Amino acid sequence: MMKKRPVKGRFAPSPTGRIHLGNIFCALIAWLAVRSANGEMILRIEDLDPDRSKKEYAVQLEKDLHWLGLDWDIGGISQPQYCQSKRTAFYAQAYVALEEQNLLYPCFCTRAERAASAPHTADGASIYSGHCRNLSPEEIVRLSASRKPAIRFRVPEGCYSFTDGVQGKQYGNWESCGDFILRRTDGVYAYQLAVVVDDGSMGITQVVRGRDLLNATPQQLLLYERLGYEPPEFFHIPLLVAPDGRRLSKREKDLDLGALQKKYQPEEIIGWLAWKSGLLNQYEPIQARELISLFQWERLTPHDIVVPSCKEKELSITF
Ligand code: GLU
Ligand code: ZN
Repeated sequence: MMKKRPVKGRFAPSPTGRIHLGNIFCALIAWLAVRSANGEMILRIEDLDPDRSKKEYAVQLEKDLHWLGLDWDIGGISQPQYCQSKRTAFYAQAYVALEEQNLLYPCFCTRAERAASAPHTADGASIYSGHCRNLSPEEIVRLSASRKPAIRFRVPEGCYSFTDGVQGKQYGNWESCGDFILRRTDGVYAYQLAVVVDDGSMGITQVVRGRDLLNATPQQLLLYERLGYEPPEFFHIPLLVAPDGRRLSKREKDLDLGALQKKYQPEEIIGWLAWKSGLLNQYEPIQARELISLFQWERLTPHDIVVPSCKEKELSITF
């Protein structure tokens, strides 16, 4: 039997805007899962995309987490080894390891070509057609002269299965994933590669994140296997949605922490999230640390959480 590793979890936000209620929920649950197991909490700044990430957002994010009563043991902007933009050398190394296993190939399709030919999954993501999978070396040389390719991972045939700690047993066919991008045409390594290299090399034992990333997990498990890392346990938590089922996003300005802070105390926001997610039986203002002893995965609802009036100008998280 494999030795059980000490619990290590992480919050891995992308500093592309002010955090909103959905990010707060994810940070809270990831933090409670670590703190209730006496584990170590890592804050990793996922500033991989240079066009969208901003230092100011990362600075604000740390202030916001502290305001909410959430802390971390290691990482954050003062530790560059926990910022993805400073970790390119690790991704490059992993990339070479995959290349040596013959798992990568260049894809010359333009964005428009990919969109036009691709079938779509139930949640709207496109599945790559495999157009460039079997290009000859001559074709690759010819196409390289006019275009810089993206690099894709060659997904095997067959089925996969894994168990998610919130969503239960997951089954699928690799065909429904399609060969995924590991490095963009501009040379930036893809989230899929970075997240596995980071969680793997940091010894993360539990990944807690929104269920929107459930579909990315099989591909990540493939990379764990190919890179020789022990995979973590996955917990894909419910999303916060509008009454019409639409997912809340950073565009919902009235739900970012800047707006929420004008109306609510941290205890009110934490209490509301804890109540809606099943950790509390009824609403009461509460500090994050008071929830540690109450936290159990069995209590958490697997269903999305409706935020009542996020469509109106005035947000009221009703109690
Ligand atoms: N950086 C990602 C996000 O902000 C999270 C990735 C993950 O938790 O795996 O949505
Ligand atoms: Zn292609």
